[in-house]
Amino acid sequence: MTAFASDGTALAAHPVLPRKAGIIETIGATPLVALDRLFPPARFQVYAKCERFNPGGSIKDRAASSMIEHALRTGRLVPGVSTVVESTSGNLGIALAQLCNFYRLGLICVVDPRTTTQNAAIMRAYGARVESVGRDPATGEYLPARIDRVRRLLDSVPHAYWPNQYANEHNARAHHATMREICQALPGGPDYLFVAAGTCGTLRGCAEYISGHGLGTSVVAVDAAGSAIFGPPEPWERRYERMIPGHGAAVVPPLLQPGLADRVVKVADADCVRGCRRLLAHESILAGGSSGAVVSALHDAASWIEPGATCVAVLPDGGDRYLDTIYDDQWVQAFFPELAPDIQHTQYPTH
Ligand code: PMP
Repeated sequence: MTAFASDGTALAAHPVLPRKAGIIETIGATPLVALDRLFPPARFQVYAKCERFNPGGSIKDRAASSMIEHALRTGRLVPGVSTVVESTSGNLGIALAQLCNFYRLGLICVVDPRTTTQNAAIMRAYGARVESVGRDPATGEYLPARIDRVRRLLDSVPHAYWPNQYANEHNARAHHATMREICQALPGGPDYLFVAAGTCGTLRGCAEYISGHGLGTSVVAVDAAGSAIFGPPEPWERRYERMIPGHGAAVVPPLLQPGLADRVVKVADADCVRGCRRLLAHESILAGGSSGAVVSALHDAASWIEPGATCVAVLPDGGDRYLDTIYDDQWVQAFFPELAPDIQHTQYPTH
């Protein structure tokens, strides 16, 4: 039997990855769940692709395995010798930490103070070194400071390798498989695909699969209000300081290409929280912030989606990594007092 890497390349012939075995084998093949309680199917049908079922807990397992396995296959990474260096604060760091442990590679994650102590602890538990940087003195931003530290580490750490998730095509290629799985479950593909955008790896990989297979699926990219991915923020977005990590970016990712998305929807943090709380209240799904954004975008799309359409919403991670924010009533009340009714909605009497 031929084994395949996450980007679809056959692994069998390669000496470094003779076969895919162990926990890494369980990346992908995530379940597609009907959200009939939240979106009554009489109007249009919504399915959720639940990426929290990946072994590292998020969609970034796919991107991490695709990038690392490509570097192993091409000899750029050597087990027992190389160290991976990446700027990442959350899901990719955890995904890389598991993979680097599995393939016996070193890992240094460059983070900033917004990284939760729990996420950093998970990375360390897998054996990663976590280095936190402050703001860049010139711009006051974290991102340039993180990239600067990555570059210094590449100069000083022997056999260091930077996957550079924002520009690495193997990040995007991982999601040919994501879309292939969706099409295996829904032959011909859904009418609409709702996907959150950060590095744009998911967006690009799914869109490439759709155009490459001549499918009629319309791609809806879900971005954060205040993000710069699809152009400078509009005046109404400028008052938002983005608090919910995952989707959105302060720069235009090199992976983004014109025409990948048929439509872009921008969602404010309050609506992410509302979407998460609704998903929990109606579907008993504890999901992360970008999943809430996708659900919120779907609610708004009810005005333009034609009756009888089939939609797939990619839910990138679970809610366990957001217990101190999105699922903390006091945090929500402090930052989004307008959401009080949604909070009550998720509270049921205990007998
Ligand atoms: N949601 C979450 C929770 C994420 O961690 C990410 C990755 N940063 C995204 C959405 C965006 O995915 P992508 O990087 O593939 O655009």
